[in-house]
Amino acid sequence: MLSNRARITGLSVAVGLAAAVNVAQLVDAHPWDDDAPSTRIGTAGVALGDDAARIVERVSYRQDVERVGDVIVIDGQPRDVLEGELAEIWEIVDATWPMAQRDELAQLSIVRERSRGLVGVVHPSATGGWILSLDIADLEDRALIEETIVHELSHVVTLDSEVFTFGKVDGCPGVQIELGCAEAGTVLAEFAERFWPGDISSGDPADFVNNYASTAPHEDLSETFTAWVLGWPVEGRLIDAKIDMLAADAELSDLADALRAELVAASAIQLNAG
Ligand SMILES: [Zn+2]
Repeated sequence: MLSNRARITGLSVAVGLAAAVNVAQLVDAHPWDDDAPSTRIGTAGVALGDDAARIVERVSYRQDVERVGDVIVIDGQPRDVLEGELAEIWEIVDATWPMAQRDELAQLSIVRERSRGLVGVVHPSATGGWILSLDIADLEDRALIEETIVHELSHVVTLDSEVFTFGKVDGCPGVQIELGCAEAGTVLAEFAERFWPGDISSGDPADFVNNYASTAPHEDLSETFTAWVLGWPVEGRLIDAKIDMLAADAELSDLADALRAELVAASAIQLNAG
């Protein structure tokens, strides 16, 4: 279930140009007194080529976010020997992020954010995978980190570059939402079209698993996915319809099964039956 820190997740997206690679930034934060943060530009240093020589990609955060350390992930495992808090937080990621999706994880970045609004962030990596950033201060709250990974993984799957293009796309061949263009036939496109017609929320809190879900279609999808995987006690006609849609998607359904298997094995979260 939810930690006592509310999971209101803030979003930011922007498309930036860094070393000829488009990098979009998603921010999932849970500010208590803040609406969706203003748009920010994500930038990343690019290090392609030999994996063993990969350098840490730098991503931009809000100014009050301090970088603590980075883990370059190769073939699903840290390239370098980890110690201390980095090793501790990697252990949680390793126990939660299913191996079937592990090649999507290019880098784990650990940050410390003074305002304590940040839970997790995913950035597309120049390698084609993703950079997951977590706040070291959450190390004491394993369940929150696990829940965050569930949420972020649903972004990783539904915002993959093959099915989603960040930013405004002229003639988007699917559904254009504020974050970008979801290809026709994808679960995010269907989800947005049905539950966010015109990219607009219904405005009825009963239609959403929590407040943050009502901020944007892709966050609604990810929070609903998290509620479904973790068995949060949520109910409502539209919430049920959203879960049915996610459960009918083969990729999300496989991801949900894989996550539940990991969480049953080594979790701080009590999964509800069903
Ligand atoms: Zn999110």
